[in-house]
Amino acid sequence: MQPQIILLKEGTESSQGKSQLISNINACQAIADCVRTTLGPRGSDKLIVNNNGNATISNDGATIMKMLDVVHPAARTLVDIAKSQDAEVGDGTTSVVLLAGELLRQVKPYIEEGVHSQVTIKAYRKATNLCIEKINEIAVTIGKTNEAEYRASLEKCAATAMSSKLIHGQKDFFKKMVVDAVLMLDTLLPLDMIGIKKVPGGGLEDTLLVQGVAFKKTFSYAGFEMQPKSYDNPKIALLNIELELKAERDNAEVRVANVAEYQKIVDAEWGILYDKLDKIHQSGAKIVLSKLPIGDVATQYFSDRDMFCAGRVPEEDLKRTIKACGGSVLTTVGDLKDSTMGTCERFEEKQIGSDRFNFFTGCPHAKTCTVVLRGGAEQFMDETERSLHDAIMIVRRAMKNDAIVAGGGAIEMELSKYLRDVSRTIAGKEQLLIGAYAKALEVIPRQLCDNAGFDSTNILNKLRQKHAQGHKWYGVDIMNEDIADNFHECVWEPSLVKINALTAASEAACLILSVDETVKNPKSGGGDMGGMPAGRGRGRPM
Ligand code: ADP
Ligand code: MG
Repeated sequence: MQPQIILLKEGTESSQGKSQLISNINACQAIADCVRTTLGPRGSDKLIVNNNGNATISNDGATIMKMLDVVHPAARTLVDIAKSQDAEVGDGTTSVVLLAGELLRQVKPYIEEGVHSQVTIKAYRKATNLCIEKINEIAVTIGKTNEAEYRASLEKCAATAMSSKLIHGQKDFFKKMVVDAVLMLDTLLPLDMIGIKKVPGGGLEDTLLVQGVAFKKTFSYAGFEMQPKSYDNPKIALLNIELELKAERDNAEVRVANVAEYQKIVDAEWGILYDKLDKIHQSGAKIVLSKLPIGDVATQYFSDRDMFCAGRVPEEDLKRTIKACGGSVLTTVGDLKDSTMGTCERFEEKQIGSDRFNFFTGCPHAKTCTVVLRGGAEQFMDETERSLHDAIMIVRRAMKNDAIVAGGGAIEMELSKYLRDVSRTIAGKEQLLIGAYAKALEVIPRQLCDNAGFDSTNILNKLRQKHAQGHKWYGVDIMNEDIADNFHECVWEPSLVKINALTAASEAACLILSVDETVKNPKSGGGDMGGMPAGRGRGRPM
């Protein structure tokens, strides 16, 4: 009888072996089941309420996953891949989670039967590489030579990204706007150069695209109304200076012998302020923007001299103005000269809904634009913003990397068929595992059918037959409960979205398969498990 050797601290939970692997897989499937119903044009939305009582309605996989606050350590991998897909390509976040979940589900029986996880990982990696090769082989490049055709192809990609969202009814309106917005940017296509502002009220179709910077009018004092509200080619001073009379410190003590001396102190203070204002005026600036407040004296001063001012401008708006109009944020008025001030072709203040907006258009430097979103409920506009983000990302992707494939399950069915063909040429366990991968790929068209209420078995059979006959772009036809050539039907997606989704999903699946022991340390892992008898949770979800 050997004494038990204790390696880990008391209260540490550890579970290992096949059963814990299965439990991790089950947890991942539970996650995939959460987002399953949101896939595709007929997918439903989720309403998530957080502990502050704020409700979010979303169809975006990454958003849902972020809000779910998953605690299971293995299942969190899926949250991470959804996030990475969102950051990398911006769309396909639901698909990636679903694929990872399905890859694991298909391999489960083999794990249960005792196939070593390293064998499955190797087969999955091989299958992923085969798929990527195949996508690159069959992807179609959109030509850049014909301007109108190029634009139309970008619009089709944007429309496909939006067709699964709440705003699918307005996708014809928004696809133009999204493509316009992205085409306005310069070659690097920086995403932060597209600002999105939300103004409640009005219909979705009242949304407008501003070629330049726009932000909401800031808080202003009396005298503001007298200031001019439009300029051509103004000089813009961007400041980080408070233009206000300072209130005396509460407990400061100043001893004065007579009233004249007190007057001197007051005068000095006004002197400082007027000195600053004079310098700004002399610099020739017509528009003064400041991060800090601009008080009533300054507002009045500016309106007397036909200048416009806005204080407390949010930092991000100021940054975008700098990038667009040039100049830099100054902390002293001494540095105001032409090279530190920005300019634009036209400045205007306009009314949008119940808000007033400052528009800076025709900016010389970085190309930038602002989308002013209109719409009813706040949640609705939030979701519209997320949907536009997806579409913008997709258009950027398609511009950077101009190969596209057909969506609606077409590319997945083609890959699935290809893998099945390849697997038949391989002997041994790998054949079965690559077959499992092929089966997992079918989850996308199947789910698209299920979410639309179609008979998925029937449609999948039709699709398999078409693909076997060599019609590689056949996918689900959401409008007619049938199959269709989705390339012809213009359901297009950049091939990079699919490549990234496949790589991320299979990496996540392999990661989970490679874990053979889960150790939970009570100190670092949130605390409340301390003192529980060791060994609990073995093979059970934690
Ligand atoms: P994700 O977060 O993965 O982008 P979506 O809910 O946007 O999830 O659904 C995307 C899926 O819907 C893709 O597989 C895409 O090919 C498919 N899809 C989009 N538009 C259509 C359409 N008009 N007909 C059929 N399938 C479509
Ligand atoms: Mg999408």
